[in-house]
Amino acid sequence: MLKLFRRTKRPKALSEAELARRLTASGYRCACCDEVLDAAYAVRLRPFGWAHPPAPEPDSAIERMGDVITERYARRGRDLLVRAHLPIPVKGTDDHVFLGVWASLSTGDFARFRSAQGRGDADRLGDILAWLYCRIPTASGPVLSKGVVVPVAGGAVPVYWITDEKHPLFAAQQDGGLSAQEIVTLYEDLGATDVLSHLRA
Ligand SMILES: [Zn+2]
Repeated sequence: MLKLFRRTKRPKALSEAELARRLTASGYRCACCDEVLDAAYAVRLRPFGWAHPPAPEPDSAIERMGDVITERYARRGRDLLVRAHLPIPVKGTDDHVFLGVWASLSTGDFARFRSAQGRGDADRLGDILAWLYCRIPTASGPVLSKGVVVPVAGGAVPVYWITDEKHPLFAAQQDGGLSAQEIVTLYEDLGATDVLSHLRA
């Protein structure tokens, strides 16, 4: 269908509060094209050093040997990875955005986590030491920063907390958070430009 009424002018800058609302709303509907998105979960990073990973396979593919990426797990060389949500508080709100990251676990912890996820009771494992396996920001971010995977009940995607104080996101994650505008800048850096074009419309 022709978009006869699409606005071509660059819209004026959004207020911090409106940007925060759009970033954290569940099912935000774009004003220009009716696309519905959950911007808080829109950034899904790839494992560092893996420029073009294939599309994720079903989780059972992790049983195979060799490099593989599935919806929740990945193997890259000897590294065993779990997909996790890295929460960042949005300043001035009670909400967060959640970057989709990869965390590297020891062989034993990876096996324990996977079987507990299968039972739906991984939360009983408590925090698991894990290395952040994504570069944030894209060009300058450190890799293999220390942190923890915090399993969640019911088989849900676990949460990741950075514990290395030298990581550029440590302070934001632990207390202050980032402003909505700072999160937009981070999203840009991480390549989520498609989401941002809807959010700013
Ligand atoms: Zn749109």
